Amino acid sequence: MTRKGFLLSAVCALFILFASGPVRSGAAEKNLNVLASTFPVYLFASNICANVPGATVSLLIPAATGCPHDFALRPQDAQKLAKADILVINGAGLEEFLEKTLKNLAPGVGVIDAATGIQLLADGHGHINPHIFAAPGDAALMARNIAEGLAKADSANGGLYRKNAETYATALEEISAKFKQVGQKAKNKGIAIEHDALAYLAANADLAAWVMVEHGNSAAKLGSLKKELLEKKPHVLAGDSQFDDRLLRTLAKETGIEFIRLDPCASGPENPPLDYYQTIMNDNLKVLEGTFDN
Ligand SMILES: [Zn+2]
Repeated sequence: MTRKGFLLSAVCALFILFASGPVRSGAAEKNLNVLASTFPVYLFASNICANVPGATVSLLIPAATGCPHDFALRPQDAQKLAKADILVINGAGLEEFLEKTLKNLAPGVGVIDAATGIQLLADGHGHINPHIFAAPGDAALMARNIAEGLAKADSANGGLYRKNAETYATALEEISAKFKQVGQKAKNKGIAIEHDALAYLAANADLAAWVMVEHGNSAAKLGSLKKELLEKKPHVLAGDSQFDDRLLRTLAKETGIEFIRLDPCASGPENPPLDYYQTIMNDNLKVLEGTFDN
């Protein structure tokens, strides 16, 4: 074992002693198991619960999964649900995979719907577009909704949840304000997007977006997509970093329209830093500013 490895084990052993030792404070520190359905909701809930005594946040679907449109619950997910006190969901229909099973798997769980009161967009087929998390302005509202739900469930710490939400939402609103300026300055506000998730991000930037390519489209559609682009003449063609972008790069090359990649923050690393969402959105902002400023 390396010296560093040994030190780490020693520290872990100490931590376990403290965590599980017989000396428990008599004060009733209520443990609140908060389970977040998706990666962005996990980021928001983690910020709201930061430094709140007894509150722990875990993530239901793997961080790398991204949009859960095709997700199916596994046995380990059912176990997480059974242990949760509170389940925080994105809402707006994103958690279709939970709708039929939740009542059986976790009959007593309290559900916080982060989409409450948020203005929803329709997707290309006229259905509700659930990807509200991709707009920093809406993400701020989601954070406030989560804090209100947690304050109700754990009123002793209500002030802490609300204070955390205020700090976090304010940071997201500052990014949102910078997003708005992108479209306000742009002559051609047109942005062709690959996936519905980017519709909220583009709307936050005051751009005119339309979904052009649903992921999974075959190369046979290249011709009609190319025609659509040449007719609508958007300023850019934006790929969603969750997906393969070969088709879009080909389209961009053949139409002469600039190609950019944007990250809706649907997925991310296993143990993200608390400010991961801000980092990703600031990167998106730089990409948008870089193309719409000229
Ligand atoms: Zn999606």
